[in-house]
Amino acid sequence: MEEKVIKKFTILMVSACLVICISLVYLPKVTMRAGALVAKYMAAREEARMREEMNALELMRLHEQEISAKLRKKLGYSIRLTKFEGHALSEVTIKENPVRRKVELVFPGAKEAGLNRYPIIGSTRYLTDMKVSDTKAGLKISFETDRVVVPALSKEKGFCYLTLKKPREVYDRIVVIDAGHGGKMPGAVVGGVKEKTVNLQIVKALKKYLDKDSSIKAYYTRLDDAHVELYERVRLANEVRANLFISIHQNAMGSYYSSVEGTQVLYSETKKGSHKSKELASILLKETTKAFRSKDKGLVPGNRIFIIRNAKVPVSLVEVGFVSSKAEQKRLTNPVEQKKIAKGLYDGIQKALEKGF
Ligand SMILES: [Zn+2]
Repeated sequence: MEEKVIKKFTILMVSACLVICISLVYLPKVTMRAGALVAKYMAAREEARMREEMNALELMRLHEQEISAKLRKKLGYSIRLTKFEGHALSEVTIKENPVRRKVELVFPGAKEAGLNRYPIIGSTRYLTDMKVSDTKAGLKISFETDRVVVPALSKEKGFCYLTLKKPREVYDRIVVIDAGHGGKMPGAVVGGVKEKTVNLQIVKALKKYLDKDSSIKAYYTRLDDAHVELYERVRLANEVRANLFISIHQNAMGSYYSSVEGTQVLYSETKKGSHKSKELASILLKETTKAFRSKDKGLVPGNRIFIIRNAKVPVSLVEVGFVSSKAEQKRLTNPVEQKKIAKGLYDGIQKALEKGF
């Protein structure tokens, strides 16, 4: 009996010694491994928390670091936006706001959650902000850029790609059309007629002619009653390096209704080699007075005007008639006459471009 106890005790002791010996060898390793796992878990939690706090553009910059050199090279300056299987590129809505340097894309059928699996990756060139959200129409991705860009979409293996280019890389002939005033700035107001409204109506009529002309890319500072700052207007023209920058206005005399009538065009007095503002003004004056059958009131030096003074491209400000003349106001507010004015401006644009502007 005693022998049995001794045997049991010996086995127990030997086992205990074995366990202690093994532990002495492996425990530090086990402890270290457990410590590393905890540290890794904490780091992952911290990164997840940081990612949660990052905005879409910061996340994109992070992903840019994480993708392979091969994929980065393949993407070049393009951005892989989202999986867009089962849809055609023509279904994507693209809204451009060159004045505010914004581009907005809506992908019907796509969802923000889809970006968890396939995040937006690629070049962050020109980007200053990016926002992603789900809307009724689909996944909305909006970009803000540090310059005016032209968005171009393409599709490959189910993914939608975006490339942002500078207007001059895409278009040969660029005109910037500016409907004077807008929003809280009505311009001249005579007898209930607001200059900003007439300016916009003429610009919209001009747009119809320009839309049909694929040889000219036209940018507009506004196509509704928006308030646009003067610096934004001239910045657009300078940034896209417009061949022509044309601002549409109406003239007005101080008195309520006066008999002063006719068309004037203001030009830049800046003497720079490529600055052919006066020549442009002369072409536009001729074509507009002919189309509107108005009196030629001549060319006017225009450097007192902010957008003229700051334009680095050929600029003209056309004062189409006097809104303060009862007879001219009646014609200026008539859509048939507005169309004629627009045709005159369009002819002027074509003539100037033919002359090598
Ligand atoms: Zn005006």
